[in-house]
Parts: sequence; C-alpha cells; structure tokens
Amino acid sequence: MTAHPEIDESQLPERLEALPGIELIRRATAGMPAYLVGGAVRDLLLGLERADIDIAVESEVRPLAEALGGQMVEHDRFETAAVAVDDHEIDIARARAEEYERPGALPTVSPATIHEDLARRDFTINAMAVPLAGETELLDPHGGADDLRAGVLRVLHDLSFADDPTRALRAARYSARMDLGLDANTARLLRETDLATVSQDRITAELARIAGERHAARALELISEWGLLDLGTGPRLAAALERLFESSADWNEFASRDTAILLAVAPGEHPQRLRGRAAKLARHSPPASPAEIQVLAQDHVPEVLAIARVAGAPWLDEFVNRLRHVELEISGYDLVEAGVPQGPAIGRGLNAALAAKLDGRAAGHEDELRIALEAAR
Ligand code: ATP
Repeated sequence: MTAHPEIDESQLPERLEALPGIELIRRATAGMPAYLVGGAVRDLLLGLERADIDIAVESEVRPLAEALGGQMVEHDRFETAAVAVDDHEIDIARARAEEYERPGALPTVSPATIHEDLARRDFTINAMAVPLAGETELLDPHGGADDLRAGVLRVLHDLSFADDPTRALRAARYSARMDLGLDANTARLLRETDLATVSQDRITAELARIAGERHAARALELISEWGLLDLGTGPRLAAALERLFESSADWNEFASRDTAILLAVAPGEHPQRLRGRAAKLARHSPPASPAEIQVLAQDHVPEVLAIARVAGAPWLDEFVNRLRHVELEISGYDLVEAGVPQGPAIGRGLNAALAAKLDGRAAGHEDELRIALEAAR
C-alpha cells in the first residue's frame, strides 16, 4: 500500500493553472457552473499527468461542448459529451443523480447539483471536484483527499457494489494502479459482490480497460483473489505477457500487448476457443525445423501466438524475430506463367518453396521456382 502524505490541497490553484488546456476550458466555461471532477481532480492532487480532462456542469452539456469547439461526440442517455480540441480530450457530463432499479442494470439519471453528482460516484478518491470559476477550492464531501493520502480505496456507501457491480472491477484497476489498500468495510463488500447480473459485454469492457494498464496482471490477480471472477490461469499468463512485451521489441511490433492480456482473461466462447488454440500450441513438442515452426504459427492471430509463447512455446520467438520476415523471390504469377492452373496448387507450391527457403534448402529464384513447381504438379 502506498500512502501519499505529501498531498497538499493548497497546491491545487497552482496545479490547476498549469493543467494543459485550462485556459481554453476557462474561456469556454465562463459564466457556467462548471467543475473539474473525478479522476482529473485525483490525479491533480497526486501531481500526475493524464490524457483526459473530466468536467461536470450543472447545466446543459451542449453549450459548453460547442464553446470548446473541436470534434464532439455526444451521448444523450447520460447527457455527456467527449470533445477533442487541440491536443486535449475533454469529457463533459451534466451533473446527475442516479437511481438503480435493480442490481447490474444501468441507472435512471436526473439532473442534479455537483454535490449529488459526487455522491453517486464509485470511490471517495474519485468523488472530489474543483470549481472552475471563482476561488479554487477542493470540494471533498467524502474525505477523498484523506483516503488518497492514506492510500485507501473506499466506497461511498454500502450498496455501491450492489447498485453497480462493475465498480468491483474498477476497484481492482485503481488498487493495482495506485497500490491502494482496501478500507475494511469496502473489502467485505467486495467479497460479497455478485457479477452475475452484469452483461458479458460490460465485463469485457472493464477487463479491456484493465488490460491497458501498466499493472494489468496485478489487477487481474486481485479480481481472482477477491473472488469476483474465475479467471483461471489468466492472471499468471497476463504477468508473463507483461514481461514478454516489456523485454521484446519484436513481439511489440508483431502483436498488441493489451489485446493479448485481454484475450488471456476475456469471457465468452470466442476468446475461450482462441485460448484453446494457444494452449494446444504450447503443448506441442518443440518443432524440429524452421519450416515446421512456420507451419504451426502461420494460421494464428498474433495474440494467440503471444499467449502460446508465454504458456510454453519459446520456439515462437524464432517465428516472430526472424521467420515471419522471410519472403520468397517468386510469386503466384511465376507459377501461373509456368503453366500451373489457378487454384490450390499455387498455394501448395508457394508453401513448399517457403518451407525449403526457411530450412536453407532454396538459395534463390531458380531453386524456389523448381521446388514450387514440383510441389504444385
Ligand atoms: P482513469 O484515470 O482510468 O481515466 P477515471 O477515474 O477518469 O479513470 P473514468 O472511468 O473515466 O475514470 O470515469 C470518470 C469518473 O466518473 C470517475 O473518476 C468516477 O468518479 C466516475 N465513475 C466512472 N464510472 C463509475 C461507476 N461505474 N460508478 C460510479 N462512478 C463512476
């Protein structure tokens, strides 16, 4: 658990003035009841840079979005808008209260004050705001700054995870990212949380956000530890994937780290089938030749190969580092010109030539063509 005794609210005015994009936002929000909120305030207190700026307004969203200019995507249901202007991503939301009719369902929302809006948030460290007009003061009705100083993650009320169980997955993400400990009551509530009411898509969306984190594997481990989801060997695979992508430029170029980590844990039949393919490759006895590696690797998406690599197929490094770059000097046209009919025979010929080249049995154009024609006929 990492505490932050250095957090000092009196630094807020200075940090707010230094926030990239603040002038633009101030100009656009002039005369509106607007606030910096949520993660943006938390990270300002921590002195961390972040990609997006979250703003809440106690009025309609569109006038502010338009005043900011730039590209806007509006979402009606929650009265939110995302604006990209210059290099800034600005998320605007109308301050709202939420009502949960049943666990796991999306809430019914209604316009509200900033204080009501803070009260519907997930954790105390995310339930702070700073007004953008007038004096720069921290609105912190739930003790978020103290919790951040102590390194503690705490829900605002006992029904928080029952209302929205995806918050439990968010808890793992924040806990791993900032090395936060759980307040005792929050820990108890977490263990009682039932994710069964949440759709697979929403779970996958939360897992995808986790996969994009630097400490993704730690967050996944916490999800298992807290009994939220049965992720099987997923967290261990994720940890190994983190190490693989940290240490290999070739793997980074070849496959997506975040997608591979998501694939290691995502629910649903399709991811499961892909993991099955990776496990099968990992169990395969080490191939005897480069051509055999090529044959085993070629039909899989890169992220399946990444999982197979960390699950027990180190020979896939050879494919990623070298074999995948090997190209034939001949093409299908050469075979057609030599009289091979269009169709599967072309592929068969080219595959044979590639296998020979990978194994060092074809030294140039002529060798490749000869071997390809033999296999095609
Ligand atoms: P990050 O630092 O990863 O961008 P964030 O804290 O900005 O995280 P977002 O998911 O962008 O998180 O949400 C912005 C804010 O909205 C959060 O800080 C939190 O106050 C609130 N929030 C988001 N999702 C929920 C939720 N499921 N329940 C309650 N409050 C939420």
